[in-house]
Amino acid sequence: MAEQKHISTDLTEGSQTGAEIVEIGAPREYPETVRTEPVRGNGKGRPLPASVLTPPPPAPSPHLDDYRNIIGQAPLDALRFLAGDLKGKAIKMVNSTAVGGGVAEMLNRLVPLLSELEVPTHWDVITGGNDFFEVTKAFHNALQGSSFDLTKSAQEIFLMYNEQNRERLQFGEDMVVIHDPQPVGLIRSRDKTQASWVWRCHIDLSNPDERVWEFLRPFVEQYDAAIFSSPSFARQLAIPQYLFYPCIDPLSEKNKELPDEVVQKICDEFGIDRSRPIVTQVSRFDRLKDPVGVVQAYQMAKKYVDCQLVLAGGGASDDPEGAAVLQEVKQVAGNDPDIIILDLPPWCALEINAIQRASTIVVQKSLKEGFGLTVTEALWKGKPTIAGAVGGIPNQIIHKLTGVLVHSVEGCAFQIRYLLTHPDFAKRIGASGREHVKENFLMTTNVKRWLLLFRILERAKSRRGTRT
Ligand code: UDP
Repeated sequence: MAEQKHISTDLTEGSQTGAEIVEIGAPREYPETVRTEPVRGNGKGRPLPASVLTPPPPAPSPHLDDYRNIIGQAPLDALRFLAGDLKGKAIKMVNSTAVGGGVAEMLNRLVPLLSELEVPTHWDVITGGNDFFEVTKAFHNALQGSSFDLTKSAQEIFLMYNEQNRERLQFGEDMVVIHDPQPVGLIRSRDKTQASWVWRCHIDLSNPDERVWEFLRPFVEQYDAAIFSSPSFARQLAIPQYLFYPCIDPLSEKNKELPDEVVQKICDEFGIDRSRPIVTQVSRFDRLKDPVGVVQAYQMAKKYVDCQLVLAGGGASDDPEGAAVLQEVKQVAGNDPDIIILDLPPWCALEINAIQRASTIVVQKSLKEGFGLTVTEALWKGKPTIAGAVGGIPNQIIHKLTGVLVHSVEGCAFQIRYLLTHPDFAKRIGASGREHVKENFLMTTNVKRWLLLFRILERAKSRRGTRT
């Protein structure tokens, strides 16, 4: 991995660390990828449209009032009320990358929104060499269940870069939030600060490699609190734990409302026929997303109902395993012209938005899943959604209320057929799914959770102050 840049995104005044200030929404740096043609079922599809071959310019950052049309005035007033007592309290967020990945994407929105609420929020990114990021990637995988030989040298590399960052960063804020395991060792600076410290874990710790977890746990337990994305992802800890669901931004390119002409144009470019039912799965080409199972389910349902299948994903051009999975998918898809397989570059948020909106049904037939943001995105668009009953998906899909859960290829085929032939029921679960997301999984709800947590931490701090 390339050397990481130190970035501060203080929007109100100069960075406390004196670091380079990078504009929010500055153009992203994408790894160079070689793109293949999108492949129809017969492997002889049309080329990707020129419009998706290069990254689009960054979209401007929204402001709080821009969310009024979506969530209404009252929740915005509530945010301003909750932020009132925190006015001027400074927050520092620290993670390990400024671009790429869900955490950076979320911080890109969260930091300016908190700052707009007059809770000035700074975002620092730790630096490290390739050796550090190799170790932290292995830690990441080991914490999510793969085995890893935790050598002395891996431990030393981890500690050495955490120490380096500790010397480089300053922690003059009132609250410090450390994201994920890579910078967890920064907690050693805690005693030199007045701040409350929180560890926000975005990964699934339900089945970690014990040695890696036992190495990290002593750091985690020095924090004032830990936050997990699902009750099942958490560990037994000696500190308070909070549940923050992941969230989507309804104003992002991926989720904003689109004029029908834009949806139509994108469907035309990809050869998707909107006059017939469209069943879609958006996912990396990864076995755990079971794209082959989706094709098989479509093939079973297709014997009874007319439909097209769109498999839109990425990861096949820069990941050898992704390429192998794509080959398997093409093989089961055979010569069916109604199966449209799109290997998209990572910047195709608008195209994914349009494809999701054009879909009659969205499927996410995962065999294992973290939270499943593609499910959140589909529900937000009011789409009747069929998804595997794994990971965080049942938090989002309440069976037959906000979507349908499936456990097999046959179950998925049955539900595709059922939803395509029962449009009223499909419409009803789609609408309930959207409400469920509005209530629980939007960025504005996430901001509310942060404000509540900051208030709790501030109160605990003042109590500690009174006791001493
Ligand atoms: N995604 C994307 N391009 C792709 C495939 C997926 O932008 O080719 C997006 C998708 O819309 C979602 C995220 O990547 O926002 C995937 O998150 P999810 O939690 O569903 O799965 P993960 O890939 O993290 O396992």
